[in-house]
Amino acid sequence: MNKIKMKVPLVEMDGDEMTRIIWKWIKELLIEPYVDLKTEYYDLGLIKRDESNDQITTDSALATIKYGVAVKCATITPNAQRIEEYNLKEMWKSPNGTIRSILDGTVFRAPIIVDTVKPFIRTWKKPITIARHAYGDIYKDVEYRVEGPGKAELVFTGENGEVRQTIFDFKGQGVILGMHNIDKSIASFARTCFNYALDLKQDLWFSSKDTISKKYDHTFKEIFQDIYDQEYKLKFEDAEIEYLYTLIDDAVARVIRSDGGFIWACKNYDGDVMSDMVATAFGSLAMMTSVLVSPNGYYEFEAAHGTVTRHYYKHLKGEETSTNSIATIFAWTGALRKRGELDEIEELIRFANQLEAASLKTIEEGVMTKDLAILSEVVNTKVVNTRNFLVEIKQRFDELS
Ligand code: NAP
Ligand code: MG
Repeated sequence: MNKIKMKVPLVEMDGDEMTRIIWKWIKELLIEPYVDLKTEYYDLGLIKRDESNDQITTDSALATIKYGVAVKCATITPNAQRIEEYNLKEMWKSPNGTIRSILDGTVFRAPIIVDTVKPFIRTWKKPITIARHAYGDIYKDVEYRVEGPGKAELVFTGENGEVRQTIFDFKGQGVILGMHNIDKSIASFARTCFNYALDLKQDLWFSSKDTISKKYDHTFKEIFQDIYDQEYKLKFEDAEIEYLYTLIDDAVARVIRSDGGFIWACKNYDGDVMSDMVATAFGSLAMMTSVLVSPNGYYEFEAAHGTVTRHYYKHLKGEETSTNSIATIFAWTGALRKRGELDEIEELIRFANQLEAASLKTIEEGVMTKDLAILSEVVNTKVVNTRNFLVEIKQRFDELS
């Protein structure tokens, strides 16, 4: 069989622990036998990040700007315990944070749906993709614990002097919080969401609490609406999709009643909370993909879950593991398909689609990892170990092609 040829390399970002093992096996069993894989390899495993003083993370993000598409394995975000475990020089920042800030991107998270694994919400038939604005608000706030009586004021010192507003006259103890956002970041978030909706041909919803927050949240609403009216209205009409703004409480109610199949753009905090709710309600974090999209059209695909540390320690002890590789497979297929679209390689697009189909077929036929067995409606499930799950997918892929 002739292997599919690629024109432009993918940026490959390797990672840590159990997902690093899965990564190698996916390439060996499911990709390299069929695709003449071209990648520019960056090892974002914690050891190499430490050796390079984290330069490698920055380099991998810059390579993504150069080539346009990256695929990333889950990576450890160091904490005090990891510093000891890996004898690190420093508590390096989250690679995802570093990459996101270089690409100025928005993260879209979407569940992978299998017929035999039913979401907890009965009406949900199609994926709900959450887009989280990853800048500002309470994640960059300033807080103050008020210990006694006094006046709290909001003071802005601009070129033309000072503006002052009373927040509250405290008679006793309390708390204050100051937060901000910037128009440029909101606008770039809005454009990325509108573009992604056109990409997926799905409706876009955006929600905030503008009835209560008449300046802060209202500004978000206004920026979204202006950009939509000026730049996207006609494109949306052509694509027969809709943009809907609604209050966050109304959005929550509509989401639960919906059958899915749309993108829900959320402010930073809402996105943090709602993405965990949506992931859980769809069944499993191991079935969630995540794609970082920059306003300039760069893409980075990954699984939404982490490095599955607990399984890795079992693996190191020689014990059998049953780790679900679906989200990592879909990160690869997402990246390869995007490369295929950009470079006009039909075969590569078809390959990605078929590998996804074979993966889902495996689960639908009752062969799955432990995490899914609990959720599946199939009566006689066959629970397989980490590697055999990939072998089973490969068998079905070979039958399909
Ligand atoms: P995690 O790796 O997502 O795993 C948490 C638990 O979820 C696992 O112990 C497992 O449950 C279940 N799980 C997650 N993915 C699974 C899969 N593919 N198959 C089967 N079960 C799966 O989160 P964590 O343990 O909190 O974090 C571990 C490391 O990952 C941390 O160092 C963290 O910094 C990093 N992390 C990285 C990313 C990223 O790179 N994007 C994201 C999140 C976390 P059971 O143990 O019950 O089987
Ligand atoms: Mg969260």
